[in-house]
Amino acid sequence: MNLPQDFAPYAAHPETSRGRRYTEISPIYRSEYQRDRDRIVHSAAFRRLEYKTQVFVNHEGDMFRTRLTHSIEVAQIGRSIARVLRLNEDLTEAISLAHDLGHTPFGHAGQDALNQCMRNHDGFEHNLQSLRVVDELEERYAEFPGLNLTFETREGILKHCSLRKAAELGDIGQRFINKQHAGLEAQLANLADEIAYNNHDIDDGLRAGLIDMSQLQSVSLFREQYDVVKSAYPDLAERRVVHEVVRRMINRQVVDLVETSQARLAEVQPVDINAVRSASTTLCGFSVAMQAQNLELKQFLRKNLYQHYRVRRMTSKAARVINGLFDAFINDPCLLPPESLRNVQLLEQSKGDMGRARAVADYIAGMTDRYAIKEYDRLFNPFQLT
Ligand code: MG
Repeated sequence: MNLPQDFAPYAAHPETSRGRRYTEISPIYRSEYQRDRDRIVHSAAFRRLEYKTQVFVNHEGDMFRTRLTHSIEVAQIGRSIARVLRLNEDLTEAISLAHDLGHTPFGHAGQDALNQCMRNHDGFEHNLQSLRVVDELEERYAEFPGLNLTFETREGILKHCSLRKAAELGDIGQRFINKQHAGLEAQLANLADEIAYNNHDIDDGLRAGLIDMSQLQSVSLFREQYDVVKSAYPDLAERRVVHEVVRRMINRQVVDLVETSQARLAEVQPVDINAVRSASTTLCGFSVAMQAQNLELKQFLRKNLYQHYRVRRMTSKAARVINGLFDAFINDPCLLPPESLRNVQLLEQSKGDMGRARAVADYIAGMTDRYAIKEYDRLFNPFQLT
């Protein structure tokens, strides 16, 4: 079906999509990328994002971002920019909503712990796992495993990848070998992710009392907007000051991204998505000045928030939970619930020890924070016998 659309020539056009792994009849009233987005929203992995952590463990408070609200914020920022640049909004939204589907419980601490557990079994990487979720692990359709998404959505999900892995992945990994880029919607979703988490981590960090506004004066992006807000509203309550500053920071980054990308696109004039893929640099991006400010902000967050002793205590506990679960299941898969045990047996049959470990990692990666904590308690708390 032809829908009224006004895409730029360099946008992803559904009619020139590289298609799906398993051929399907096109939807009647939706575009191919709308269908991708809808499949993602209805997936089990998407629902579980509600109870997975970004920085703060889910049960620490109901006010903090989770991976679900984070993904929705990424989609909002991505879609707004996609519309201005006349890119494909539906594809941008699909990639944004799917980009964290492969994340373990407990944020990056969980991913690092699981990667360590898998060190002799090909490792664990959340990007690859997101692709694995949509390609293999979701069980919803009669005709194929996974969600059978389009090439362009899958390309956007696979943000980075080692050359060795790229060779194993076939067509979706080819761009890393050829040193090419993903389409603009994928480039955009990646940067929208960065804008979303840098800014909401400031907001959540302030709310949790782990950082304060005087420390943030050393971050130029914050200080500039703080000065504007303070001079316009000298008596504004602190909570509102924070929100005014953060929303203005987001706006600054969005405007910079739009204008820098517009200038690069005007200069290179890519004729289609393939010209975008083979351009000498990515065409969606921040100005040099904004890149420097972003780096300053990231370094601040790394030092003062992600390394804060209260966050470190949480992440070290999270690693203990992941390690405990992995060791228990790898040594005795019969401790697994029947469905997961079956997955372990199937993968073990085809891939031996590697397969066993991968299936255990799949099970753990799919857990929410609270489910992982409950499983740990059920396995190791001798006073809980059920
Ligand atoms: Mg993210």
